[in-house]
Amino acid sequence: MRHFDYRDGNMFAEDVPLSKIAAEVGTPVYVYSTATFTRHYRVFADSFADTRALIAYSVKANSNIAVLATLAQQGAGADVVSGGELKRALMAGIPADKIVFSGVGKTRIEMREALTAGIRVFNVESLAELRVLNAVAVEMGKVAPVAFRVNPDVTAGGHAKISTGKKENKFGIAWSQAESTYAEAADLPGIQIVGVDVHIGSQISDLAPFEAAILKVNGLIARLRKAGHTISSFDIGGGLGIPYGNNATVPPPPSEYAELVKRLTADLDVEMIFEPGRMIAGNSGVLLSEVLYVKRGEDRDFLIIDAAMNDLLRPALYDAYHDIEPVKQGNLDQLETYDVVGPICESGDTFTKGREMAALESGDLIALHSAGAYGAAQASQYNTRPLVPEVLVNGADYAVIRARPTVEDILKTESMPEWLKTPLTKDENVTEV
Ligand SMILES: *Cc1c(COP(=O)(O)O)cnc(C)c1O
Repeated sequence: MRHFDYRDGNMFAEDVPLSKIAAEVGTPVYVYSTATFTRHYRVFADSFADTRALIAYSVKANSNIAVLATLAQQGAGADVVSGGELKRALMAGIPADKIVFSGVGKTRIEMREALTAGIRVFNVESLAELRVLNAVAVEMGKVAPVAFRVNPDVTAGGHAKISTGKKENKFGIAWSQAESTYAEAADLPGIQIVGVDVHIGSQISDLAPFEAAILKVNGLIARLRKAGHTISSFDIGGGLGIPYGNNATVPPPPSEYAELVKRLTADLDVEMIFEPGRMIAGNSGVLLSEVLYVKRGEDRDFLIIDAAMNDLLRPALYDAYHDIEPVKQGNLDQLETYDVVGPICESGDTFTKGREMAALESGDLIALHSAGAYGAAQASQYNTRPLVPEVLVNGADYAVIRARPTVEDILKTESMPEWLKTPLTKDENVTEV
């Protein structure tokens, strides 16, 4: 079931017409569907209902506190990668004992915040980080629960920028150093070893890399237990891909993924931890934008829209494909081919090239699909474009869950140093040649 679909030729988000949101909130704007978030979470959670599993939603995919609260209501935990994300997760009502803390560069302050909150586990990525975490925990009179993120050296992930499980990536403990790292951790008074963690990439479109990683980790768990370590959790990260609509990569459904994981880990006697991000949030949102101009070029036509790479970075960063549809269903007998671009002064500010779609004109609304993950969360204010707002739809209701700042709001955070405050006198203003 699609929660962004046409009714009588007009695209709705659940029971709300997108044109209504555009009129009331303005464009560009992200629009999310509560029903889609919930359904994706349920599909994933239900497929592991018969196993001991914690589903720790990867907050970085879409970190809005209303989105987190929607998932918290369904029972989700959280995978956070900063003190800021930890704060969001707690604010949204996710219990600390369902929060895992990932990331290659945790600071002492972040470690303290997480120890104070009492999170489930730190996914530690280096010996250097382990030693600091131990020192912080000892100083606080606490013991930090730790899993090491190991790097299984498997190839996965659709794009070089989202592949994480190869040995040349910055992530995780090198496979050959895993056992010695556990041995060192066992001697530290501020550390309690609880598990193993991997995260091999993102937008993974087949099950083979998951299978390879699980088989390697299974062997590691056996060796670690033999060496006397207690391994009670196995976190296999996120990374399951979603269909973006271009048919290039149609990932396996969560049920097949679940079946594989359950088959390969049935005898391990561990709690499984999952960190899905894109799989839950990706198809739960669209970026709604207005066509500013149709520019007829010499050898191509450009659709210049009011959304730009600062609002949705994925095409520029990962060469990502997003389905684009008009909000008012177009006439498919009148197809045109466009490069869809934003107003930013960068050639990279291009959403797609040579895309065939129903003819559009200035003032028409379009929806860029599958923008719920790594969309708003990556947005910036480049070109002094106010941060794109977010709207959450729930049935026939909707609410603005992140407001569009004004330019004044942006400028308020900047200030003149003392030496620039006095206006220049006339003499000083003269440029000497
Ligand atoms: C980004 C990330 C995830 C989520 O990845 P998806 O591809 O969105 O599922 C999970 N775990 C870690 C450690 C991550 O960095």
